[in-house]
Amino acid sequence: MIIHLDADAFFASVEQAEHPELRGKAMAVGGRQRGIIASATYEARKWGVYTPMPSARAMQVCPHLIIVRGDFSKYRVYSERMFGFAEQLTPWIERASIDEGYFDVGGNRQISPRAAAEALQQRIAMELGITVSLGIGINKLISQIASKLRKPNAIVEVPAGTERGFLAPLGSHWLPGVGTILGARLRAVGLHFIAQVAEAPLEFLAQVAGNYAAQLQLYSRGIDPRPLDIDPCDAKSYGMQETFEGNVTDKAFVLGTLITMADELMSKVRRDLKAIRTVTITLRYSDMSDVTHGITLPTPTDLETDVYPLLPRLIRETWSRRASLRLAGLRLTNIVDPNIQGELLLDPMDAKRFKQKQAAHLLDAMRARSLPIMRAHSLPRHRE
Ligand SMILES: [Mg+2]
Repeated sequence: MIIHLDADAFFASVEQAEHPELRGKAMAVGGRQRGIIASATYEARKWGVYTPMPSARAMQVCPHLIIVRGDFSKYRVYSERMFGFAEQLTPWIERASIDEGYFDVGGNRQISPRAAAEALQQRIAMELGITVSLGIGINKLISQIASKLRKPNAIVEVPAGTERGFLAPLGSHWLPGVGTILGARLRAVGLHFIAQVAEAPLEFLAQVAGNYAAQLQLYSRGIDPRPLDIDPCDAKSYGMQETFEGNVTDKAFVLGTLITMADELMSKVRRDLKAIRTVTITLRYSDMSDVTHGITLPTPTDLETDVYPLLPRLIRETWSRRASLRLAGLRLTNIVDPNIQGELLLDPMDAKRFKQKQAAHLLDAMRARSLPIMRAHSLPRHRE
């Protein structure tokens, strides 16, 4: 059995835990003026405040909203302690984000999953003063939906073998990858509930969901083979590399590969609430010799859009021989805790940065729901 933990309105709850006068109030963590809302209490959500929403808009829908500037170093401490409690129950933990994680307690014979979830919820409430919701199920899909079903401060257990019955009455938007657009298309053809998605002929589903249909139907039947991705959050660097099918001589292709890697890696940097300063690329020639070049930025960043302009220059400097390539890699190092740059993260300095930040947040949110999403520059590569 897998347990999924999801803190309730995490940043806002931490502020309420530290400032009791904020309890029960419509409040949010975010940037003022041109900033965005990063987390909103359930009281604020009743007024239509959601994340990520421009703070100015939030003040329009909820004029008495209290906006508190975020302190990421503080949230990291709470997150570390929360996962620390979980580590006392099991070493098998996947941190999906700062406030969400999956735990496999199957190896711990001292405690049932239900008792583990209860113990964790109580300990977090007592020691940190915040509430979390937990879902228990046979896989990531079931445990994640279960944790979000009755928020806040809930535990929902789905006994093994009852997955289909559990999912059946839920709206199809609960399935991973079903956002506004796919959700509307499913409803338009009458697939309002997960049971209907599970029973629909695959060819019919494919007309709505394209090549995502088969995966979607497996999810709708409660099937999810994804393993836990156990990787430590205190990474010293973020890196990826790709070996090409054949020898590559096309600069645009190499650039596209590195840009796509920058998207994926920066999403992880943001997930860990870090920022990076150094961008390094490695290219391998067809004679198997490696060349590496890096650039260090004057200020840390957690945006891929700050990495893009460096890449053509790094490729020029690194790919100096007239030889074809076998491999390209990207590494982000000089990891910093951006608490000093908290301003930069929550209260963007200019309108362009604000838009970039907003786009990055939206992409992260869609990736978190396993939506097959990519920036337009990845398309040419993807079509091949
Ligand atoms: Mg949460």
